[in-house]
Amino acid sequence: MTPSPVWHPFTQHGLGEPIPLVARAQGAALYTDDGRRIIDAISSWWVTTHGHGHPRIMAAIAEQSDTLDQVIFAGWTHEPAETLARGLTAIMPPALTRVFFSDSGSTSVEVALKMALGYWLNRGEPRDRILVLEHSYHGDTIGAMSVGARGVFNAAYSPLLFDVGTIPFPAEDRDRHTLDSLEAACRDRPAAFIVEPLILGAGGMLIYSPYLLAEMRSICARYDVLFIADEIMTGWGRTGTLLACEQAGIVPDILCLSKGLTGGAVPLAVTMASEAIFAAHWSTDRARMFFHSSSYTANPIACAAANANLAIWRDEPVIERVTTLAGKQRERLDTLAALPRVRNARSLGTITAFELDDPAGDYLSDLGTTLRARYAANDLLLRPLGNTIYVMPPYCVDDDDLDRIYAGIAETAE
Ligand code: PMP
Repeated sequence: MTPSPVWHPFTQHGLGEPIPLVARAQGAALYTDDGRRIIDAISSWWVTTHGHGHPRIMAAIAEQSDTLDQVIFAGWTHEPAETLARGLTAIMPPALTRVFFSDSGSTSVEVALKMALGYWLNRGEPRDRILVLEHSYHGDTIGAMSVGARGVFNAAYSPLLFDVGTIPFPAEDRDRHTLDSLEAACRDRPAAFIVEPLILGAGGMLIYSPYLLAEMRSICARYDVLFIADEIMTGWGRTGTLLACEQAGIVPDILCLSKGLTGGAVPLAVTMASEAIFAAHWSTDRARMFFHSSSYTANPIACAAANANLAIWRDEPVIERVTTLAGKQRERLDTLAALPRVRNARSLGTITAFELDDPAGDYLSDLGTTLRARYAANDLLLRPLGNTIYVMPPYCVDDDDLDRIYAGIAETAE
């Protein structure tokens, strides 16, 4: 066969690492064309919540594709989007009254940033500075990269990235420093502060307390700085509650959701906003409208999948499943934590993580690549972030698969 023309994401083709061909997926497992059963221990990059091929989501996609595949969403609407927007406003915090659709997590972040700037401009007080938390990740488009940590991932594009105010991450006992820095930065009247609530994902599964999240939110409220919660990874039960923000008892001004919005089956994102943000764009003047759209905004098939996801949340004991899974993961993590090379074992909801002792540990060190290959050889899909190893399985994963995941990790941590 001629070599594949596919250019894969976050893949150095020059290393010649094997790229398995996945033929189908069910529950917590992927099946390759050569007959292997691989446990999807990272929910296919954090998207698959209930499990692959959930029958209700698959049926909704099939049914929707019989009636309406795609229609322009600027000035037109359709039932799946209307139902979804109502469903979201019913399940999400009541203060988030408006739902703007897009296609990916990164796009929902771009939309959030544009809404924030539009809000201030339309109120006649233009503001453009964005505050971010150190080590954050919000996506790979230019705006989303700008509000994320700088590093080897985006060094080539740095001339295009806009300047932001970085608030230090609250490493151990540094809550006060973080809060003081945020307060000082808020005095300069920035437009918004964007955060990953409770856990920074791609930055290394770094966890901070609900107390700190609540304090950060209240500082922003006090200084009239918009608070954007990026719940793209944390939403839909990942951290033990529907939203991570719930654990801090807070509601953001703008909320970004994607990944588990469709149960992880098809791409879709939303940016939910408070009425004040919508109202700032509401006018008879076209120049004040929200200038954002993409071809597939609110694709009906994706909306139908998301409606099925909402129905699952309404009808099935998802939070109980998540709580049970969290407990099972913690037990297994406790066993791992006793191994000599395991550092800083931690967990939040369905996510566990630790650092594997490795003096050279950074994202580009060979360790991550070597580990990934060893896990794959054991039929495990795990993708360490440098020397940070984490597990984030679909909620349907069973005990045997969990045992296999943690046994496979233990082999590499002795
Ligand atoms: N924000 C967070 C917190 C994420 O984890 C991700 C994706 N891992 C994104 C934004 C970007 O989402 P997408 O890859 O769908 O563009």
